[in-house]
Amino acid sequence: NRCYRLRRRPDGLVTPQDLELVEEGIPPLRDGQALVRTSWLSVDPTNRIWMSDLRGYLPPVAIDAVMRGLGIGEVVESRRDDFPVGAHVTGMLGFQDHCLVDDALLEAPLTVLPDPLPAPPQALLGALGHTGITAWLGIEDICRPAAGETVVVSAAAGAVGSIAGQLAKARGARVVGLAGSPEKCRHVVEDLGFDACVNYKDLDWAEQLARATPDGVDADFENVGGEIMDAVLLRLNIGARIALCGMISEYNDYGPGGGSTVPGQRAIGQLIMQRATMTGFLVLDHAARFPEAIAALAALAAEGRLRWTDTVVDGFESTIDALNQLFAGANTGKLLVRV
Ligand code: NDP
Repeated sequence: NRCYRLRRRPDGLVTPQDLELVEEGIPPLRDGQALVRTSWLSVDPTNRIWMSDLRGYLPPVAIDAVMRGLGIGEVVESRRDDFPVGAHVTGMLGFQDHCLVDDALLEAPLTVLPDPLPAPPQALLGALGHTGITAWLGIEDICRPAAGETVVVSAAAGAVGSIAGQLAKARGARVVGLAGSPEKCRHVVEDLGFDACVNYKDLDWAEQLARATPDGVDADFENVGGEIMDAVLLRLNIGARIALCGMISEYNDYGPGGGSTVPGQRAIGQLIMQRATMTGFLVLDHAARFPEAIAALAALAAEGRLRWTDTVVDGFESTIDALNQLFAGANTGKLLVRV
């Protein structure tokens, strides 16, 4: 078994000294155990949070433990009836190419997927999996845009943002994205149907955002935080809703000892001025609604109103590079490692 063990908490980008790739033997299975071979790993910004000792929504990954991560794999050996050989499973497989299914050892139970798979594994970790569901929860529960309202989505070309914007479009909103390159902005507008997209690396990006939101902002699907979120806060209309999904601009700053040295939001007082609400939410809390969310996403996809792309990195040994790519914006859509 090849696995990544967390040797120390990263300071900035993740290095092979933080996350060590090691090769370990697999003990013979006991009764009640099964062995899953990982086929795809989901690479998520939150992996970086879990490596820090920030007070988070899950305990930090312990030093020397196998890195926590979501994936999809196939049962290759089994001594339990609910995980038959050949079954596809998903959940917290960890950053490893084999995962031992053992109720006493796993942090969270794994889910056996229907056979045949309802969609390609990439989609089940992306648009029709946790990232798509995150977008759906933030738009349907928190942003709730009415037709004609303006919604801003940051990290608009990413896994969550790309879906969130299309869901807001499906509700008839005017949708403005923010992304980090001209090509991403083109993709967001031309391929995904957003009304506009601002490249936040342009010097005059804040003015561009103002021009793209002439009627102000009624809802913000926030993935980034920092300066980008501040610029959006300064455009809020009265009664605006903010779905606080993520603050990726801070995560690399979660160094040893936790916490961030990034100055944080300066324009937060706009919540008072505009009587706005900001709601933090976590996809993991809403497992009971996953079927409803997936059905809604799949229905839109079937109508051709929901599109996505994946960025696939080949080889388990490239996992650290893949993770760092999220913070360099090298991905468009869902970032996955094909193990
Ligand atoms: P993405 O696919 O969006 O990848 C991250 C993107 O963020 C990059 O491609 C990059 O795009 C952008 N980015 C990175 N660093 C910065 C920065 N400093 N400033 C501005 N943009 C930056 O990842 P996900 O879709 O998986 O996640 C998006 C957000 O959603 C994250 O904040 C994540 O933590 C959050 N999330 C929250 C969940 C929840 O339950 N609350 C569940 C899943 C995700 P660009 O080229 O445009 O800069």
